[in-house]
Amino acid sequence: MSDQAAGRASLADLYPRIVKPRAASGAPANMPDYHQAHRTFTWEAARGLLDGLPGGRGLNIAHEAVDRHATGPHADRHALRWIGRGGGRRILTYRDLMIATNRFANTLRGLGVREGDSVFVLAGRIPELYIAVLGALKVKCVVSPLFSAFGPEPLMTRLDIGEGRVLVTTEPLYRRKVAAIRSQLPKLEHVILVPEDREAATEVPGTLDWRQVVEQQSPDFVIPPTSPEDRALLHFTSGTTGRPKGAIHVHEAVVTHHITGRYALDLHDDDIFWCTADPGWVTGTSYGIIAPLTNGVTSIVVEAEFDAATWYGVLQNERVSVWYTAPTAIRMMMKLGTDAVRGFDLSALRFLASVGEPLNPEAVIWGQQAFGKPFHDNWWQTETGGIMIANFVAMDVKPGSMGMPLPGIGAGIVRRNDDGGVSQIDEPMVEGELALKAGWPSMMRGYLHEEERYRKCFAGPWYLTGDLAMRDADGYYWFVGRSDDVIKSSGHLIGPFEVESTLMEHPAVAEAGVIGKPDPMAGEIVKAFVALNPGFSPSEALRRELLGHARKRLGAVVAPKEIDFSTGLPRTRSGKIMRRLLKARELGLPEGDLSTLEGDVR
Ligand code: ATP
Ligand code: MG
Repeated sequence: MSDQAAGRASLADLYPRIVKPRAASGAPANMPDYHQAHRTFTWEAARGLLDGLPGGRGLNIAHEAVDRHATGPHADRHALRWIGRGGGRRILTYRDLMIATNRFANTLRGLGVREGDSVFVLAGRIPELYIAVLGALKVKCVVSPLFSAFGPEPLMTRLDIGEGRVLVTTEPLYRRKVAAIRSQLPKLEHVILVPEDREAATEVPGTLDWRQVVEQQSPDFVIPPTSPEDRALLHFTSGTTGRPKGAIHVHEAVVTHHITGRYALDLHDDDIFWCTADPGWVTGTSYGIIAPLTNGVTSIVVEAEFDAATWYGVLQNERVSVWYTAPTAIRMMMKLGTDAVRGFDLSALRFLASVGEPLNPEAVIWGQQAFGKPFHDNWWQTETGGIMIANFVAMDVKPGSMGMPLPGIGAGIVRRNDDGGVSQIDEPMVEGELALKAGWPSMMRGYLHEEERYRKCFAGPWYLTGDLAMRDADGYYWFVGRSDDVIKSSGHLIGPFEVESTLMEHPAVAEAGVIGKPDPMAGEIVKAFVALNPGFSPSEALRRELLGHARKRLGAVVAPKEIDFSTGLPRTRSGKIMRRLLKARELGLPEGDLSTLEGDVR
């Protein structure tokens, strides 16, 4: 249903644009004029910004991320600045990182690991994770970083279907999670343990000690010829809508990583960049490892989990200039209010970006209040490998919009036809499925062992994203909801995002998750689960007030009919609200695959 049809204002009309100063201080934007860049962009030119393996031997992610800089003027620049849980620090320059990754590459070679073999990394955000990922890419292995919080079952599934031959992990994680499933993983030949205590020797049967097998290796390694189409990364999707899928990416993906680092995150030579995502989620690899390094900036790695004071301390002490985070963290910061930010010197912050879930307009605006800058929402998926739609630095921000397509990306809103084809919707602000013209460098090359499912993602020239969106007359895209989450009520299609954003406008609401609940009359009714801000407690009066607020803003058809208070919403480890779980629990249905559920919020 279009908003016009609903006879009410859409998010697009409610919040004023945030107009960017045209003469911003500091370095000019990498993309000062979006429309011109869109007209003139070619992927050939984007490829030309990369180095390529010496001697025309192809394209390898690790060369672009590490060796290229380590052998040039950036050799002594900090590549990774690691801040440990206990406050310890380790700094790796580009030269250090080259040597460390060469050693790891030689280790794999010495173990007889060949190109195309799968290397999994199960570790918290420790330097060895980064070294192992990049080192394995040098040997042309297929690399898959996993969340360290996964339990044995999800680990086994992923190692099994990804046919892991090598696992790099830590001693405690191995003992707690892997030892018991090891016998069921016949393909897993080598386990390399990073000792927790770097001084103590590790003696765990059936494993190798990182210090013994890696640190003695030669610091020299020549990356073998690498085709851009060689497999590089295996990333599992977040599991928000069902069982996670294993998306395969190739070395050519680095072209997208690099150009989006430049355009969507506006990375400049002297930036200090912090991506808060864990590499167990695609964002933590594409933008926590690859894009900052290919752009030659200093990347901050923080081992600890979210804590507002720690985070503000990192932003201040490291002089972070570009910060890439996620709505769930932003909402947690909002809960603590802007006062918690005061007292920190965040004057180095230049650009703030967010990904992973729809970013409520309130959160964009809160960024302005707390940091003097809006959060720039951007949209992409595990399958797209890199940022596809973004609020770019030189564009005005329309709070609640995901922004515009990356130059080089043809986006459209389409409707699926009965014959399996799709037709494009040209009218502005009409909902349809977000689709992208297939063929950009970081497009997944397959779902592991799920050929049919992969094939179904394409129709004619389009890759179909499974997300519903609208495009406004200026070309900005507005997220409506995942097609699985969209609610059909009395003949209307209702996207949960707008309802959730509306509830969040109320000062009592910290976060909201909205589902469709079957109803004999309406088909489905809108039901909301709401977590409250500090200082508010559930009551019948508050419920009525929230229902009234939503009704006034959204109209009777779209507003929730039911609101439940909840202490927290179930979310994935990558921070996304699991609406399918809210629904299953509401209806008493099987909960499905919970391998990516964070903690256990009930
Ligand atoms: P699964 O595919 O297993 O259900 P998932 O889709 O959550 O999990 P990811 O690839 O991590 O796995 O997430 C991509 C999805 O996240 C997008 O398809 C979209 O639904 C949502 N998303 C990401 N960024 C945004 C954004 N800026 N605005 C709205 N939604 C977003
Ligand atoms: Mg998905």
